[in-house]
Amino acid sequence: MSRPPLDIDALAAAIRGGGRAELAKAITLVESTRADHRAQAQQLLLRLLPHAGGAHRVGITGVPGVGKSTFIDALGMHLMERGHRVAVLAVDPSSTRTGGSILGDKTRMARLSTERDAFIRPSPTAGTLGGVAKATRETIVLLEAAGYDVILVETVGVGQSEVTVANMVDCFCFLTLARTGDQLQGIKKGVLELADLVAVNKADGKFVIEAKRAARELTGALRLIYPHDAIWHPPVITMSGLEGQGLDEFWGTVLRHREVLAEAGEFEEKRRSQQVDWMWTMVHDQILQRLADNPGVRDLRGKVEEQVRSGELTAALAAQEILNAFDC
Ligand code: GDP
Repeated sequence: MSRPPLDIDALAAAIRGGGRAELAKAITLVESTRADHRAQAQQLLLRLLPHAGGAHRVGITGVPGVGKSTFIDALGMHLMERGHRVAVLAVDPSSTRTGGSILGDKTRMARLSTERDAFIRPSPTAGTLGGVAKATRETIVLLEAAGYDVILVETVGVGQSEVTVANMVDCFCFLTLARTGDQLQGIKKGVLELADLVAVNKADGKFVIEAKRAARELTGALRLIYPHDAIWHPPVITMSGLEGQGLDEFWGTVLRHREVLAEAGEFEEKRRSQQVDWMWTMVHDQILQRLADNPGVRDLRGKVEEQVRSGELTAALAAQEILNAFDC
């Protein structure tokens, strides 16, 4: 017996009305890779898009153990007490390998997970980073349409996941521990270039002085990255997620960042160009997928790879043969 067709209008209305079960169902739909689900998800997103865009989208990254979940729990509670509706998402492509997500796990956010008005969703486990990113971006639309006004997207620096998350949020925050001198070299330079805010976490007890010194050194390192006339210089703050210290400063900086961008006319522009970049990312992903699935290319690849290995064919000529078989 086939199931009744999904009533997309009813689902959209229920999500806007705050239905949690419907929201969860819709997220499962956008995470699905089934063609019919994909089509339904796009219809749903089209209906909800006019009601999206209202949240602060904040990315939070840092190595495992830096204190992300403790901090998100504390920040989430802090914002809920101030009347915000908070959602937490995770982008963790490695979870597809381990079979379980280490991020966005409810047990890691003990207080927030019991709040009725908070929504926590672990990383989708569907395939590649591209797949996870797609589901996460679409989930942001669903959450905003459902009235969540703070969306925290958590990630660890696996592969390209930091770049991916930085490209879907308004403010990208890098959490680190007190490191000075040579240890600073250990921080991936790329992540500092992506960060809008750097926070030296676990600045409590005997680590306070060390954390402050690390913050000063990081400020110096960041000065070398950003030109003098940049409209935003990522501030380095110290905080303690465990003790709830520095939450006001953290959130105040997120708000100030938005204000500065908005005043320069760059806030909406950032979101718009993220959409355009996103469109091209999907085109590239699709082309690669089609290339991999193309029967002509499949037949040819073993043969030309061998010819390139043996020197019978140059790489450039072989590439042309493959593209000819792909017909582009
Ligand atoms: P995550 O892997 O980045 O999510 O890190 P967790 O939030 O799970 O924290 C890792 C460990 O550091 C846990 O044992 C926490 O209790 C501890 N921790 C987290 N935040 C702080 C903090 O602000 N100060 C101190 N001293 N410990 C912390």
